[in-house]
Amino acid sequence: MDRAVFEALDREDPLGAARAAFALPDDLIYLDGNSLGAMPTRVPARLERVLHDEWGAGLIRSWNAADWVSATRRVAAALARLVGAHADEIALADSTTVNLHKLLIAALDLRPARERIVVIDGDFPTDRYIAAAIAERRGLELQSVAPDAVEDALDDRTAVLVASHVSYRSGRRFDAPSITARAHQHGALVIWDLSHSTGAVPVDLHAWDADLAVGCTYKYLNGGPGSPAYLFVSRRLIDIGAASPIPGWFGHDDPFAFTADYQPAGSADRFLAGTPPILSTLALEEALTLWDEVDLGEVTAKTRALTERFIDLADTHLVPLGADVASPRDADGRGGHVALRHDGGYAVMGALVERGVIGDHRPPDLLRFGLSPLTTRYVDVWDAVEVIRSVLASGVWRDIGRAPRVP
Ligand SMILES: *Cc1c(COP(=O)(O)O)cnc(C)c1O
Repeated sequence: MDRAVFEALDREDPLGAARAAFALPDDLIYLDGNSLGAMPTRVPARLERVLHDEWGAGLIRSWNAADWVSATRRVAAALARLVGAHADEIALADSTTVNLHKLLIAALDLRPARERIVVIDGDFPTDRYIAAAIAERRGLELQSVAPDAVEDALDDRTAVLVASHVSYRSGRRFDAPSITARAHQHGALVIWDLSHSTGAVPVDLHAWDADLAVGCTYKYLNGGPGSPAYLFVSRRLIDIGAASPIPGWFGHDDPFAFTADYQPAGSADRFLAGTPPILSTLALEEALTLWDEVDLGEVTAKTRALTERFIDLADTHLVPLGADVASPRDADGRGGHVALRHDGGYAVMGALVERGVIGDHRPPDLLRFGLSPLTTRYVDVWDAVEVIRSVLASGVWRDIGRAPRVP
């Protein structure tokens, strides 16, 4: 196999044109869109208008004249299409961390007689911290289980399972419908964290019969650093009174009536708390317009193809040099990034970044390569593996030293 095969795949790629809509330096192979997605080139012009015309000239009038009032609702509707939900089951708010906190408390309130929260070994730290803190405050048991043991761990004592659909480390992807069904058999609820899923792999919350979900928008959805996160509350849970522990005025049914008593919105917007971050919300709205132009089936098919090609090349060129493929080989059980394991860990990634290949490192020994379907070319996969191969073969990474410890 040679580079020409990958060039041909790019020529045939139905999403090949999408990359032109993003600002990406020519001399970079950017494989970290699963941490911070690239910037859509249409965003700066939108923000210029928002800043100068809407904030600068329009001032307070822009809440209505520029329709800031409905911005989070519009973005929620755009996200709903990407995750297979009704628009009113999605709210755009806060960070994934804060949304998980709100939804976990709401879920526990719906399962008051149950004593256990289940989390996954090695899951994203913030998710585990939130679950542990809430378990402790409520006197509940926190049960952390291996990914393979999740279905067996769910029983009649389980109140809620909190799980990343795609693991931020290995890229392992759960069979969400099957785990959700299992939880429901026992009367438990599931909160899916979709941060590494939406925009890369199929997400269909209604088909999964999902209860609750959270996710971030700055990874595969290119919303920009710290762009607002989303949450999903199924209609059936809204209807039985799922309630936010932060009943702020933006979650009120009619915030601008300024009534003395709190009346939660009839939609997932009841989980909004305070004034939304309009600048980052509108940057995200602009970024999401790119998704109107692509076929989601083509997006998820490209994720499969890119990760498969990367793994094939890694097996041929990198495994003989001491790297292991740490991501699942079954595409249905895999997300949008490929993790390699190598003892050089941080130093290897440092050497790659110096050579223009940007992935990231997760301690102690994982190297992650995110293959965002809208921005990654097949030749990027080929070229990246070539650079990794030369770094491992030459041993130059040994000159990099240890990870700096920043306070
Ligand atoms: C990226 C990510 C987050 C990020 O949470 P923030 O509150 O936005 O910092 C949370 N959970 C998972 C699984 C993630 O991958």
